[in-house]
Amino acid sequence: MPDLRVLVLGGTTEGRALAGRVPVISSLAGRTSAPLLPAGEVRVGGFGGVDGLTRYLRDERIQAVVDATHPFAATMTAHAAVACPAAGVPLLVLRRPGWTAGPGDVWHRVPSLAAAADAVPALGERVFLTTGRQSIAAFAALDGCWFLSRSVERPVPPMPRRVEVVLDRGPFSVESERELLLSHRIDVLVTKDSGGTAAKLDAARALGIPVVMVDRPALPAGVPTAATVDDAVRWLGQLG
Ligand code: NAP
Repeated sequence: MPDLRVLVLGGTTEGRALAGRVPVISSLAGRTSAPLLPAGEVRVGGFGGVDGLTRYLRDERIQAVVDATHPFAATMTAHAAVACPAAGVPLLVLRRPGWTAGPGDVWHRVPSLAAAADAVPALGERVFLTTGRQSIAAFAALDGCWFLSRSVERPVPPMPRRVEVVLDRGPFSVESERELLLSHRIDVLVTKDSGGTAAKLDAARALGIPVVMVDRPALPAGVPTAATVDDAVRWLGQLG
């Protein structure tokens, strides 16, 4: 492994795994009050848009960037795709693969949170919302539905009138997800296509519960991608 100054845009399991494999500076947005910290050096907080990130890359003499942010952190990914070429720094996007429906899955793929909110009322009244606290506003006007909303941090208004909030961080087991769906008499599950472990999807399939699956935002054109931490380590290894 060449001795490079590497910035990892993190906030994900993959970002933490990469920081455990190679020496890097990890960057977190600072959204959660008790974040799971990666190994090694960590910086916290936004860079100040594309210009701020470009300046940071130059000032800190960063030689490679791995964007390991969540697949739905589209703004950070778009900023990196502009700032890295501007600063002359190679960029890799590390993205875990999305989910694909299998036998027994009843999925309704939608292109956005707004489309998910449109789709929900026809599928059921009692909704398990797992799209994260920043997404809850999209469902705020659905007075006809009752929501069980799960997130790491407490959501803030606007949010649905009839909502029970569960604060929890995965991973979850299929058995505990099944119990949650049954005890709350859930009719429909709403999730982003985040990829990774999928106990809630296994539980929904076993119970025949339909899933509204929000598609990922598109990646910026022309940026190389890796699907696994191993591939990202290999990419770093061939630089320098
Ligand atoms: P976003 O909408 O793409 O980014 C909004 C702004 O937050 C960015 O412009 C940047 O501010 C700052 N930011 C985001 N990620 C950052 C990072 N890793 N380091 C420093 N600044 C960062 O991002 P988001 O969806 O709010 O996600 C924020 C963080 O939570 C990310 O690290 C992501 O990996 C993690 N996360 C997101 C989700 C999700 O569903 N979106 C789920 C799990 C974890 P400046 O413009 O000031 O640089």
